[in-house]
Amino acid sequence: MCSVGDSFDIELEGKLAPKNYVCKDCNNKFKGIGKNVKCPSCQSKNVEVK
Ligand SMILES: [Zn+2]
Repeated sequence: MCSVGDSFDIELEGKLAPKNYVCKDCNNKFKGIGKNVKCPSCQSKNVEVK
């Protein structure tokens, strides 16, 4: 059996999977996707990946 397509599925999930962020300004913890993540609480971009 040949399992073609597994790597594609993993790559797709990796791009869409949200990461856990912490806002350095208000200490809010949230999940974000993409590079330009803002804190949903205070709209700050001063966030880091947890
Ligand atoms: Zn914040």
